[in-house]
Amino acid sequence: MKIGIMGGTFDPIHIGHLLAGEAARDAYALDHVWFMPSHIPPHKHQAGASGTERLEMTSEAVAGHPAFGVLDIEVLRGGVSYTIDTIKELQELHPAVDFYFIIGADMVNYLPHWQGIEELAQRICFIGVRRPGFQLALNELPHYLQNKVLLADMPVVDISSTDIRERVAEGRTTRYLVPDRVHDYITRGGLYEVQP
Ligand code: ATP
Ligand code: MG
Repeated sequence: MKIGIMGGTFDPIHIGHLLAGEAARDAYALDHVWFMPSHIPPHKHQAGASGTERLEMTSEAVAGHPAFGVLDIEVLRGGVSYTIDTIKELQELHPAVDFYFIIGADMVNYLPHWQGIEELAQRICFIGVRRPGFQLALNELPHYLQNKVLLADMPVVDISSTDIRERVAEGRTTRYLVPDRVHDYITRGGLYEVQP
């Protein structure tokens, strides 16, 4: 059994995330792809939406894809989310599963700075996808990551959650940048709107 984990803040989840998960599934015949919102990401701003809201948006986004699911393990654990802790927990729960961690080019370049990366690289492989503005320089990765980052081809999608949050704050459209159900969730809850 091969399972891909697509981790992120997902604040909000957008079609770049979904396409990355689908590209990885297709390229490496993954049985499932689990989309996993982090609680507090190690290197980032505080999330705009709550963990519960980000989990709910993620559920809305993956609804209808038989191979996609949502993983709430990091939001439930709380605190700062380190992938190494999560993978250890998942491998204990599912010893027969091969886990792959799916990341965009910006994260591929940042991998050497991840907490416990050398141990993580012994436990799993990463699947990297292209992202505009970031070069995928696999040969510049340290030796313990060589052959540990596989690539999956996807259409380059110039969308970020930051851009979507800014659009909402400015009253501009986000339709089709996020799935319809996520768009409706954001609108209904007034997420990312600027408080008067
Ligand atoms: P933010 O602007 O808040 O950082 P983001 O769009 O970068 O949001 P994240 O939740 O930070 O989304 O990213 C989760 C994962 O998805 C990361 O591995 C990131 O590289 C990847 N990713 C995000 N957007 C894209 C995209 N447009 N194309 C490919 N990968 C992406
Ligand atoms: Mg990001």
